[in-house]
Amino acid sequence: MKVVIVGTGYVGLVTGACLAEVGTEVVCVDVDAGKIVRLQNNMLPIYEPGLQEIVKRNQQDDRLLFTTDLASALPGAEVVFIAVGTPPGEDGSADLQYVLQVAGQIGQLMEHYLVIVTKSTVPVGTAVQVNRAVKESLDARQLILDYDVASNPEFLKEGAAVNDFMKPDRIVVGVNTTRARHTLEQLYRPFLLNGHPILFMDIASAEMTKYAANAMLATRISYMNDIANLCGLAGADIDQVRKGIGSDPRIGKHFLYPGIGYGGSCFPKDVKALIQTGREYGYHLRILDAVEAVNEDQKKILFRKILRHFDGDVRNKKFAVWGLSFKPNTDDMREAPSLVLIDSLLEEGAIVSVYDPVAMDEASACLGNNVTFAEDMYSAAENAAAILLVTEWNTFRMPDWQRLRKTMQSPLVFDGRNIYDDVQLIKLGFTYYGIGKANTT
Ligand code: NAD
Repeated sequence: MKVVIVGTGYVGLVTGACLAEVGTEVVCVDVDAGKIVRLQNNMLPIYEPGLQEIVKRNQQDDRLLFTTDLASALPGAEVVFIAVGTPPGEDGSADLQYVLQVAGQIGQLMEHYLVIVTKSTVPVGTAVQVNRAVKESLDARQLILDYDVASNPEFLKEGAAVNDFMKPDRIVVGVNTTRARHTLEQLYRPFLLNGHPILFMDIASAEMTKYAANAMLATRISYMNDIANLCGLAGADIDQVRKGIGSDPRIGKHFLYPGIGYGGSCFPKDVKALIQTGREYGYHLRILDAVEAVNEDQKKILFRKILRHFDGDVRNKKFAVWGLSFKPNTDDMREAPSLVLIDSLLEEGAIVSVYDPVAMDEASACLGNNVTFAEDMYSAAENAAAILLVTEWNTFRMPDWQRLRKTMQSPLVFDGRNIYDDVQLIKLGFTYYGIGKANTT
């Protein structure tokens, strides 16, 4: 089977590479000519574990092609995925201009039956608009062609995207014809062999499933952050509480970690978009308003602890920020909580030195010359008044504390992810602040 994927970002590239890996003929299309040239030369625009090898192998076998020319990609394809961005518009709703532009282009160029699938995260009702855009283009050509529109939201996690795509918890597909269902069943068959489920449903439900899933995950994070903050005040320890509640199978142990707020390209924008969808239908999603408000506040929590420790004066003090990407194993800096923390420190006149194992280039585009980009985690911490652990990369988990004690200005750690053993650090002479720990508020 041949498929075309329009939009070669995180989702489009991973989808294309993984489909090619199981033998599908894939053409990835993007408007960004620089990105396409780099990909043709096996230079990936993103960091994603395991992806480079898959792209290389399938390019060498001519199963994975990259082009800016949609017209040359479509002949012979049975499925075309739309995987372009859906950034938040001014009112928080998902901006569908890129999705609808691509749908219109497909209508201008298609010459035979296609299943047109939205993989981008799009609000309920978008398939109707996609259908309209395709039809208008076909009408303008005075052409009657059969096609189907389907919804196949993507659930991959950045940092584990290849594994998530190859071994999906579930594949959600919204269709309204048996022909589209059959085609997509065939396409995904190789991924289902080990019992991974494919869930067919109506298109509106598929579109809604993606938002409902992300909003639920964001809710768990904000809920745990809220409880963590109360733990800190009330003399309880959120890590013990987390284990206590997570052992109830109705709650489950995943996604219960407190921290400094969620970021990334999905949760913030998807929560906003779902709230906006609610508004459009005259329904107030009160829980999600609170989820957002708690998250905005949580991004400032480390800064508040720092200010309190230094009696409100951090001028000319150096802080080592460990980790910049919004989560480990990715270089994605979109909506990273590290940026909020660094901005606040700089505004108060602090000196900031940063280190991230992978995201330094991406971060320099956001931070410019305002911070020092250190060679490694230890040089970031030299003469620092404190270490601020922001992203829990493995490399930060077991630092040489004796060495740090000697080179830091003061032995002080603000742990935004609760990865350190507070008892051990205090024994080593450090002052420690975590999230939701007794006496470290
Ligand atoms: P991205 O910004 O990394 O990639 C989007 C790509 O689309 C860019 O390369 C851009 O140049 C290209 N593009 C834009 N307009 C185009 C056009 N007219 N023709 C061809 N290419 C065009 O975005 P992403 O992170 O891959 O997200 C894409 C969609 O998938 C979004 O709706 C997002 O919400 C959703 N999603 C993202 C993730 C994730 O973890 N990143 C996970 C699940 C779903």
